[in-house]
Amino acid sequence: MTTQIAVNGAAGRMGQTVIETAAERDDLDAVVGFDVNDVDEVEGVPVVDATDAGDALAEYDPDVVVDFTVPEATLGLVDACVEAGVGLVVGTTGFDDDGFDALEAASDEIPVLKATNFSRGIQVLLRTITEAVGALDGYDLELMETHHNDKVDAPSGTANTILETVQDERDVEPVYGREGHAPREEDEIGVFARRAGDIRGEHELVLAGNDEVVSLSHRAEDRAVFAAGALDAAVWLAEQGDGWHEFDEVIDAD
Ligand code: NAD
Repeated sequence: MTTQIAVNGAAGRMGQTVIETAAERDDLDAVVGFDVNDVDEVEGVPVVDATDAGDALAEYDPDVVVDFTVPEATLGLVDACVEAGVGLVVGTTGFDDDGFDALEAASDEIPVLKATNFSRGIQVLLRTITEAVGALDGYDLELMETHHNDKVDAPSGTANTILETVQDERDVEPVYGREGHAPREEDEIGVFARRAGDIRGEHELVLAGNDEVVSLSHRAEDRAVFAAGALDAAVWLAEQGDGWHEFDEVIDAD
């Protein structure tokens, strides 16, 4: 049985890539897209105005909505997903605490899977970071990320996830950029965001100490890597019950 998906933000960079990637797979179909941009279709998939998304969910009856938009757009669709009983895969980044809480509340009634990065390589990097930070006690930690010049949130959602992963292992305080007289404290982690060109996403954690430097890095070479992971998550989520789910579970289910 194929999973039917709707794509929120269908006209955007990720939305289009999700629809293109879905067209190459036989385990799912993109049946409808939503966007505020005046676009009729993407790759033959009808795109309806986001204000009509509730009606379109009833009409097209997807199993899961895959969302790559902006936080307000995701949160604007949550109630419609709950009403329609449709699962939600959230790739959008930049939620504040209230937004995050609203998504968590929705997961009491529908399956919700949110990941700041749907690349399998990043998930492996996070596991490696846990091991490295745990083993290399006292090494200086510095975190860098680079994205395309249209990205609005900084640092990236993935950089924040890396930071949380580090902080699960060690009590470090982030220092965002440095300027002027800024001597390094022992318990800090520098965090830097660069914006340039059409770079898909680069992240690097440097651990330095004991006369050595360890660099753990990841570079996404095409948005298709995120689309593939989000679609794997959608197919998996269609089989899950209500609740909060992590991309890790999808990878471990393989
Ligand atoms: P984009 O600006 O190219 O696309 C966003 C789309 O959302 C646009 O087409 C816009 O018109 C649409 N939109 C805005 N308001 C809307 C609304 N109310 N309803 C429906 N659609 C609406 O951005 P992008 O590069 O595709 O990135 C989108 C999000 O995905 C960002 O938050 C980005 O950080 C995140 N992202 C996550 C991953 C991941 O793996 N989790 C990977 C890449 C990007």
